[in-house]
Amino acid sequence: MRKVAIYGKGGIGKSTTTQNTVAGLAEMGKKVMVVGCDPKADSTRLLLGGLAQKSVLDTLREEGEDVELDDVARPGFGNTVCVESGGPEPGVGCAGRGIITSINLLEQLGAYEEDKALDYVFYDVLGDVVCGGFAMPIREGKAEEIYIVVSGEMMAMYAANNICKGIKKYADAGRVRLGGLICNSRMVDNEEAMIKAFAEKLGTQMIYFLPRDNMVQRAEINRKTVIDHAPEHGQAQHYRDLAKTMDENDMFVIPKPLPIPELEKTLMDYGLFG
Ligand code: ADP
Ligand code: MG
Repeated sequence: MRKVAIYGKGGIGKSTTTQNTVAGLAEMGKKVMVVGCDPKADSTRLLLGGLAQKSVLDTLREEGEDVELDDVARPGFGNTVCVESGGPEPGVGCAGRGIITSINLLEQLGAYEEDKALDYVFYDVLGDVVCGGFAMPIREGKAEEIYIVVSGEMMAMYAANNICKGIKKYADAGRVRLGGLICNSRMVDNEEAMIKAFAEKLGTQMIYFLPRDNMVQRAEINRKTVIDHAPEHGQAQHYRDLAKTMDENDMFVIPKPLPIPELEKTLMDYGLFG
């Protein structure tokens, strides 16, 4: 079973990209579990056709410890298994705890056992803070393969660089590796070349360049992935290609985060003068 975590700045497209890629893998016949690690609990909405999912933390709060796997893991598009960790009430408690609690519970309930025949588990992890509970999938070896969603916008690259610092810290002592950057385009000048160069400087690869397309929003309003909503559309094919590329990926590295001046130079070289 491949254990994948998707990181990246808030709003960059982690949940959208994860679910669409997972839909692509499911179409290829892969058995995939998605674990949402964001208190927003919107990591599986497109696979489930809505936010009907009760989170693990809500279920534990309402039903106590006597929980079964079916109470927290719902079947979604293409035979996927969908879980949302959930979180505390806004402003109260530590959201990272929710991730720890959820993964522990899933393990106790046998969600990762051989008989479930999972090819992949995907953790869709909130924000750019690789600390505390949010680093949990990496720290505890729950995730071994990281992809960072990024764009050519400075703050997205800054976040990606920070995430690389976190990965490096745990990779030096453990099995976690960076599998690549997924560029989710924001139509920045020279974006593809810049993210390719950024990836190379980090010692990794830009594994895919995803165009920005309004079909993503149209599918989202319909509570579906693009692959489900508009299977013939070019954007659906992009997600299939990303899924295939990821499935065939064999480049796993310990990243080399950039000093800030070097990061800024990359932006200047490509963004401003490219
Ligand atoms: P995150 O999970 O990183 O916070 P989301 O996946 O929720 O981000 O994406 C934020 C918004 O960006 C969503 O409303 C989604 O529709 C939009 N979006 C993501 N990727 C694309 C894309 N390739 N083209 C157009 N819109 C996109
Ligand atoms: Mg999200």
